[in-house]
Amino acid sequence: MVLTAVNTAAQSVVTSGRHPKKEVQDAIETVLADPWWRLERGGHWGFLLCGYRERGGCRIALNATPQNPSSHAARIVRESLKCPHREERTR
Ligand SMILES: [Zn+2]
Repeated sequence: MVLTAVNTAAQSVVTSGRHPKKEVQDAIETVLADPWWRLERGGHWGFLLCGYRERGGCRIALNATPQNPSSHAARIVRESLKCPHREERTR
C-alpha cells in the first residue's frame, strides 16, 4: 500500500529532524526564529503553523522534495511574512 511507504519515509524524516534541502531547512529556521511560528510534521514533510492555528490560522505546507528548493524556501519565508494574525494580536 502506497500510504504505508509514505508513512515510513515520513518517520525517517522525523527521526533526522531536518529538512533534506538546505535552502528549505534554512527558511524553516528563519521562520521558527520567531516564536509565533511552530513546526508540525505531516503532509509531504510538515507544516509551519502560525499562533492562530486553533482559529484557522496560517498553515504553510513544506514539501520534502520541491522541484526548486530555493524558490520553495523563498515562498515559505514570504508566506510567513504575510500572516495577518500576528499584527492583530500585537496591535
Ligand atoms: Zn496567521
